[in-house]
Amino acid sequence: MRVTRHWAVRRARMFERIYAGLSSLLARSRLHDRSLLSNRLAPFFVFGERHLKGLLFDCQMCGQCILSSTGMSCPANCPKLMRNGPCGGVRGDGRCEVDPEMRCVWVDAWDGSARMKKGGAISNIQPALDFRLRDTSAWLRSMSASGRPVSIMAHREPALAPVAPARPNRFEEVLRSGQFAVTAELSPPDSADPTDALRHASVLADVVDAINITDASGANCHISSMSVAALLVSQGLTPVMQLTCRDRNRIAIQGDILGASALGISNLLCLTGDAIGSGDHPGAVAVCDLDSVSLLDAARKMRDEGRFLSGRALSSRPGLFLGAAANPFSPPQRTRAAHLAKKVDAGAQFIQTQFCFDVPALESFMVQVRDLGLDQRCFILVGVGILPSARTARWMRSSVPGVHIPDHVVERLEKANDQRREGRQLCIELIQQIHEVKGVAGVHVMAHRNEALIAEVIRASGIRSGESVIRVGTPEGVEKRL
Ligand code: SF4
Repeated sequence: MRVTRHWAVRRARMFERIYAGLSSLLARSRLHDRSLLSNRLAPFFVFGERHLKGLLFDCQMCGQCILSSTGMSCPANCPKLMRNGPCGGVRGDGRCEVDPEMRCVWVDAWDGSARMKKGGAISNIQPALDFRLRDTSAWLRSMSASGRPVSIMAHREPALAPVAPARPNRFEEVLRSGQFAVTAELSPPDSADPTDALRHASVLADVVDAINITDASGANCHISSMSVAALLVSQGLTPVMQLTCRDRNRIAIQGDILGASALGISNLLCLTGDAIGSGDHPGAVAVCDLDSVSLLDAARKMRDEGRFLSGRALSSRPGLFLGAAANPFSPPQRTRAAHLAKKVDAGAQFIQTQFCFDVPALESFMVQVRDLGLDQRCFILVGVGILPSARTARWMRSSVPGVHIPDHVVERLEKANDQRREGRQLCIELIQQIHEVKGVAGVHVMAHRNEALIAEVIRASGIRSGESVIRVGTPEGVEKRL
């Protein structure tokens, strides 16, 4: 099946023509509107569609076919069920993070779209799947007068409920003022004692503008990101609460968004989530009801339109500053900026990237970002990490999906007499170099469970005392959109 899947992607232009012709023929038949007839014919359509599309596209019969928007690559084959991929975990050779035996469905989708006349449709935001439509015929549905999948929520006027009172948000203020922002990552402990999380956070309090609280990162279980974020708020600190789609469906996620806002948490980083298999509960089920783009879209609608995805009105809207992740270093690199644009369209106001150990590659990405005007529409913070040894660097690039570490970095660590010291120095230099890249609004510093080292590196880099250094590419236009 995978062979024919790639064969179809390579012939995306031909299938686009066939699909366009077939769609207009089916739409004109209006068969679906004659419900009695369509009900009788439904099993035949399901049978035919399953076998023909299964053979050609490895179709999984989601019932909401978007093949003509995904370069003829069926997105239902993505293990994370992404409708707006790819995720940031694509391997360096274009293979899937979860299933290394197969090529990433979304790398194929962007390839196929590039061959199509209307390939730009891949940039459209795809709504979450309506699971009631599984194993039904998308062809039959396209014969209805509107031809519209029922999962798309009917457009309604915004319900203008008041926005819940929000506390001042230091992170947003720093970014809007044009200062170079610094954030750091805190891994929530495996502890019910609030002082454990607060002790780690307090080390970072004076050197960062916000602290990211990871949400079961690497699919490992820890105290929840919302509870640690709320603890930080109670101490006057500014958290960025990470929220993944892996462990909750849209009902739980929207409830958590309201809950976070009620607890004074404004900064929300919307993520698809790491693969379950890489964590400490590999037998758990991955929910993946939404993906990062549909999550952003849902949160933005709650804030701006005052409604749940179901259309039901909120009595008060959450005050949110929305963020997303980006990985400029994993395939398909040439479309990563376009994919970022999709996240910005969905509502992302700030972006935090995967680890950057390759500044020239970052600069190439930022050229694409500036060409699309994205540095004027969102704040981009570049991720940096502190490598303790060449051995860890080698392990990270082979075992952590989406991490790109060039050979010269590993060699530099290998040759050093004191590898730990060299890793620290490397990170300081990266921060200083990234500070000069046009369009970059800040850095996001990560070192697993080593907050003291993060604080030390940030201080040594001089960026906290360097407010006099003018940041190039301040997104003046951002106020208009946000
Ligand atoms: S790499 Fe990510 S987006 Fe691509 S198929 Fe695998 S899980 Fe899906």
